[in-house]
Amino acid sequence: MAKDELMVVISAMGKTTNALERVVDALYAGQEDRALAQWVDIIDFHVAIMKDLGLRPGTDVRIDGEIPYDPTRPYDENYDQVVSMGELLSTQIIAVYLLKQGLAVEWWNMPKLLRTDDTWREARVDDETSKETIRAGWERTNRPQIVVAQGFIGGTADGRRTTLGREGSDYTAALLGNYLDAESVTIWKDVPGVLNADPRIEPQTVLIPSLRYQDAVELSYSGAQIIHPKTIRPLENKHIPLYVRPFNDPTASGSCISLEGTGPIDVPVYIWRKNQMLITMRAKDFSFVLEESLSEIFDIIHRNRLKVSLIQSSAVTISVCVDATRFVPQAIEALKEHFNVSYNDHLSLLTIRGTTPEILERAKAGRTIMLSQTTRRTARLVVKENETIEKQP
Ligand code: ASP
Ligand code: MG
Repeated sequence: MAKDELMVVISAMGKTTNALERVVDALYAGQEDRALAQWVDIIDFHVAIMKDLGLRPGTDVRIDGEIPYDPTRPYDENYDQVVSMGELLSTQIIAVYLLKQGLAVEWWNMPKLLRTDDTWREARVDDETSKETIRAGWERTNRPQIVVAQGFIGGTADGRRTTLGREGSDYTAALLGNYLDAESVTIWKDVPGVLNADPRIEPQTVLIPSLRYQDAVELSYSGAQIIHPKTIRPLENKHIPLYVRPFNDPTASGSCISLEGTGPIDVPVYIWRKNQMLITMRAKDFSFVLEESLSEIFDIIHRNRLKVSLIQSSAVTISVCVDATRFVPQAIEALKEHFNVSYNDHLSLLTIRGTTPEILERAKAGRTIMLSQTTRRTARLVVKENETIEKQP
């Protein structure tokens, strides 16, 4: 990729993805009027932006009146057809706007270029096919300098749209960076860069100017929302640096994530992973859970697509903290066939990296700790959710 070439990956505008999710929910519940009203709101929101930018809705940007929903198809498949509209709209608006500013721009339709399987809502990317198609598109002799593409969405071999999991645009950018051997990838955010805590929870935050890939993976796994967890691997493979920078201050340098960084992070880092559930399994016959059933437990976890954030065991029980997704109830049913299962919901996992006894003391005070795991430098506390926000660590 040459210096003046730019691949711009864009996600949906504002809260469009959430709004589109509500459209699917309403249709699924048989409430067509509610779905349509919501759909019209979404279109209106985009029309207003187009007008602000001096574009002609319907002429410069195609607007579909119809919701791409087919009641004979499964919910998740419909979800992907509808929710992907957010990115299709935002990228068209921006590409046309840039064109009208006199820039050399091309719009790419990622459902045709980024090949995935049909694991709806969490599609897996076929790297080989995607890389070949995307490189061929990029290497065309008449390609303009700037390409605008959708993040978060791809498509199956038979032409259905898919999505890569919420907040997946970062991941798309990393994949394209990898396929095209980008010099660097920059994620533009509404925060100054990677911070040591979520500024919505903790008012006193500091910027971490330099991190290693391994730190970034750990932070995003612990729940830091700054980067999608799948983003790092494609970049790390090719040693492509990742910058996280504030879009409201394009001159600020933000954070750089790279192989070596400037060494380990030297401030305590607080990361919340919200919306957690703690599932505890106890063997029905008081056998030792760990010795006899571990593979069974992990098989059920894997088959039901649970995302595990923490595991703790004793002689006769094993507890796993998982994201409270829609897959949990069926997993619990499966686990109940083998174990006595109990669970707590409405929990959060707080990870503190670079903790000290004093910091840990403060974090625990006034909170109901369901479970804790500490090593010398890292503490992980599972706490009740309503105590999450109100109290600073
Ligand atoms: N628009 C998608 C979402 O809100 C993808 C993204 O923002 O990265 O989840
Ligand atoms: Mg987003």
